[in-house]
Amino acid sequence: MNNPTLMKNLRNVPNYPIPGIQFKDVTTLFKNAKCMKIMVNELYELYKDKGITKVVGIESRGFVLGAALAVKLGAGFVMCRKPGKLPAETLKETYMKEYGKDTIEIHKDAIDEKDIVLIHDDLLATGGSMKAAYNLVKRFNPQKIYINFIIELTSEGQKGRDVFDKDTEITTLIHI
Ligand code: AMP
Repeated sequence: MNNPTLMKNLRNVPNYPIPGIQFKDVTTLFKNAKCMKIMVNELYELYKDKGITKVVGIESRGFVLGAALAVKLGAGFVMCRKPGKLPAETLKETYMKEYGKDTIEIHKDAIDEKDIVLIHDDLLATGGSMKAAYNLVKRFNPQKIYINFIIELTSEGQKGRDVFDKDTEITTLIHI
């Protein structure tokens, strides 16, 4: 069930960044101390027994809780970034977004075969950006990959989950 405090504090911005998009603005959750605590604690409960060694956050809204959770889990934190932002050698993946095309990158030495990885982002819409991050992480051949979002959009017929294999373990804190 969606946490009522999170639901009350999540801001919806109609027609941003283009007409027709209902933008779920998580900055109103991030600025609220109570919401931060609820989200980090809910995430910790979901992943505390999974042996996670690396949390991968997707730029930029995936960095906030991803890093907080990594500290709580005793895991490392890895940035999945927009092109040209990471200084060392990277792996890249290009994908289609709800509004346009994009590429993400990860450092070539960010993950190894012994890692158990949780990839985190703020929101699941079409699933394009998480699928690209998932494909990037898969190239490192880690022990296991888990996926988490703060928000999953399903009410407008979106089925972002369907782009992943059925056995992929995906959790979300808020379903809208
Ligand atoms: P997608 O790749 O279609 O699943 O889109 C997810 C990414 O785009 C996330 O990083 C979100 O931050 C952003 N995004 C897409 N749609 C929305 C929306 N309606 N509200 C807020 N963020 C969105």
